[in-house]
Amino acid sequence: MAVYVGRFAPSPSGPLHAGSLVAALASWLDARANGGRWLVRIEDVDGPRTAPGATEEILRQLHALGLVPDEAPVFQSQRGARYQAALDRLVAAGHAYPCGCTRREIDAELAAMGVPAQRGAERVYPGTCRPERGGLNGKPARAWRARCGTADAPVIMPWHDRRLGAQTQNVTEAVGDLVLQRADGPWAYQLAVVVDDAEQGISDVVRGEDLADNTARQIHLQHLLGLPTPRTLHTPLVRDARGEKLSKSNGAPPLDVSDPLAALRDAGAALGLPTLAARGAPDWRAQASAAWKSQWPLHN
Ligand code: GLU
Repeated sequence: MAVYVGRFAPSPSGPLHAGSLVAALASWLDARANGGRWLVRIEDVDGPRTAPGATEEILRQLHALGLVPDEAPVFQSQRGARYQAALDRLVAAGHAYPCGCTRREIDAELAAMGVPAQRGAERVYPGTCRPERGGLNGKPARAWRARCGTADAPVIMPWHDRRLGAQTQNVTEAVGDLVLQRADGPWAYQLAVVVDDAEQGISDVVRGEDLADNTARQIHLQHLLGLPTPRTLHTPLVRDARGEKLSKSNGAPPLDVSDPLAALRDAGAALGLPTLAARGAPDWRAQASAAWKSQWPLHN
């Protein structure tokens, strides 16, 4: 069998909650079911969103549940040189360019083009600072952007997900030229995740369905950088009583790991695993990886 390497990549904006455990458990089960390695990567690229102590708490919670990474966790905050090297390659190849537009300028140009501003909707960058349109035109650079096709030659990205099946996205229309690094310094998640998945040799990305929408643009970046594309499996989202996705931002309580078996059982139920008559957490994990293997077989 090909080498399997999986990962759980939490952003340390707070401790694990019931929803993030589902993604962590699924990636662990998939790695175990396939005789692979399982890594943890702390996605702390965005300094201001990193909560003090959250990383330690996440690692402690995983440990209490017996979800122990096969290598010491890596921290994106320490990997800036790698992201810079990737950006340099994209710039040298003409795939990335500096952008000097403020949000307000982008909105104004979109409005002039007749594109209504929609609250919460992704703003598709109109390409104002593309080199062929004169570049920065004397403005200071505020961000680096990756080119993402044109109206005449759009990037239409088909991809396959083990749970969601065949997917496709017109990345040019839905996303546009995406930000790789912002003016105030931080690296964009999209660049960091693509660089790290490749460097860590990740064969399989197993993560929450809320991230599925990022996959096509990540594949586009992988193509621009000449990097392999991992297989993906996006897990079902856990919703609260009001039907909203559980998240730190809408107040999901931290995961209680004082009864590991109960926490694992709940996460397993959210993943659609059968109820398992387990004698304890280690027994549950062993049974669950066997059940997972038959539920989500990997076809190489
Ligand atoms: N750090 C991202 C998050 O916590 C997950 C990234 C990924 O799995 O690709 O939402």
